Amino acid sequence: MVEFDDFGPEKVLEVYNAKVGMRGFLIVDNTALGPGKGGIRMTPSVSMDEVAKLARTMTWKCALADLPFGGAKSGIIADPKVITKQKKMELVKAFSEALKPVCPSLYVAAPDMNMAEEEMRTFVTTNGSLQSATGKPSNMCMSPGKGCGIPHELGSTGFGVFHAAKVAVEFYGESLKGKTIAIEGLGNVGTFAAQYFSEAGATLVGISDSKGVIYNAQGLDYKKVLQAKQKMGSVTNYQPGKILPTTDIVGLNADILVTAAIPDLVNSSNVQSIKSKYIIEGSNIPMTAALEQILFKKGIIVVPDFVANAGGVISSYAEYTGKKPEEMFKLVEKKIVKNTTLVLEQAKKDDTKLRDAAMKIAIERVLKKCKTCRTLKS
Ligand code: NAD
Repeated sequence: MVEFDDFGPEKVLEVYNAKVGMRGFLIVDNTALGPGKGGIRMTPSVSMDEVAKLARTMTWKCALADLPFGGAKSGIIADPKVITKQKKMELVKAFSEALKPVCPSLYVAAPDMNMAEEEMRTFVTTNGSLQSATGKPSNMCMSPGKGCGIPHELGSTGFGVFHAAKVAVEFYGESLKGKTIAIEGLGNVGTFAAQYFSEAGATLVGISDSKGVIYNAQGLDYKKVLQAKQKMGSVTNYQPGKILPTTDIVGLNADILVTAAIPDLVNSSNVQSIKSKYIIEGSNIPMTAALEQILFKKGIIVVPDFVANAGGVISSYAEYTGKKPEEMFKLVEKKIVKNTTLVLEQAKKDDTKLRDAAMKIAIERVLKKCKTCRTLKS
């Protein structure tokens, strides 16, 4: 059951195509700041409730990133592991056809779980507008060589995570140079974050994947760690280093912990083991707000997910407005630096954790423009 509150959702759409066997949902949460932005996920269990929660997260993420986008999310019920690629594309096509009345006017799609650039090509071709989705292939352009798709592989989110960390550390009068870093997960976000931290003179001491942690207090060469993962299946095949259980990434001796894989990485059983002074949430919901509060009381600075990992949606906006990859990186840096600084200043002023400060800013931005929201009493 979708819950409605002071902000939305504004539109709850269930779509069905009997011929193709396509069933899906679109939740447009709030469009006060612009058309709702959010990915399409394809899983056998995707539900309206799950999509609605993700759409709300997008409302706050876009508002905090200061983008002219609202929040939305959509889902197609199907198991990509059991259907053919051709069937998958038929479902995407039927889904795109069904959303035409509201896309791109009220909804701008993007890839999410089990969706990538080729699916976006099908979605956009069916819709007829290049603004109907972002995350398109780089050879899909508004005119030859201009306004092309910006693929996920460029690493905008990891780049933004790095900048969020840099701003936080410098806000407290420190420098990234010489800081020790632990990174959970070496996928798209983790790898690019590792690259930028290394280039800034920080020392990567721990990197994890689902099979374990590789730890070396003297430093790890992330390129070689990545090679070990790609060639031999896990970061734990890198040497020299100590191999630890996956979950030990949380209690490592590192100044900064970057989360870049699973939800609920930090939980009630390991929260007390944290030694890092900074946690940068590259992944979504790596811990509950209640755990962030416990860490705040201990003086640990947690840069929340919707602040730190907004690089991806900022890159989407760059693509939507026809920018080139170099311009996209400049925009990600500018927005992450500006908004993370605002959040740090607000939190200092209010003596609250960063998530509370970020929510305050995001809510204010939405309320300022929202004609359908109920104004909250403070
Ligand atoms: P990805 O699939 O590219 O990489 C995930 C990595 O995590 C893989 O290398 C995998 O081996 C590793 N992993 C899996 N289980 C693990 C475990 N238990 N411990 C440690 N590592 C584990 O995914 P991604 O795109 O890098 O996304 C990572 C997280 O960041 C997700 O929570 C995602 O929702 C979030 N996020 C990603 C983006 C983006 O643009 N990629 C944007 C915003 C948020």
